[in-house]
Amino acid sequence: MTAADDCLFCKIVAGEIPAEVVHVTESAVAFRDINAQAPTHVLVVPRDHYANAVELAEGDPAATAELVRVAAAVATAEGHDDYRLVFNTGPGVGQTVFHAHLHLLAGRPMTWPPG
Ligand code: 5GP
Repeated sequence: MTAADDCLFCKIVAGEIPAEVVHVTESAVAFRDINAQAPTHVLVVPRDHYANAVELAEGDPAATAELVRVAAAVATAEGHDDYRLVFNTGPGVGQTVFHAHLHLLAGRPMTWPPG
């Protein structure tokens, strides 16, 4: 496993910082967002450290696909047929944690385009 110093999500993956984990696989961990923006708001992260989704896709395509599979499994487990999956990529669009993570949002009506 590759981890980065001072990475919040590496510490959550390692169990060094508590989180409400809802699903784990060999390559991914899913936990509830601390500042939920929907009834279901879960972050799905690779165990290995990549700064964003593009670096993850280039470095580990299988783990990238696993994030989507895990998000779908969590959505189904929580009773949602419809849901939104988001990779914020870069600070200009709101990425604040630089460890790749897929947002799963579900359980309320959503508009498009997003803000
Ligand atoms: P970003 O803005 O980078 O796309 O998403 C980062 C997400 O991480 C935000 O939605 C934020 O609420 C969440 N977050 C930040 N710190 C923590 C934390 O310590 N624990 C959990 N569970 N989520 C966090």
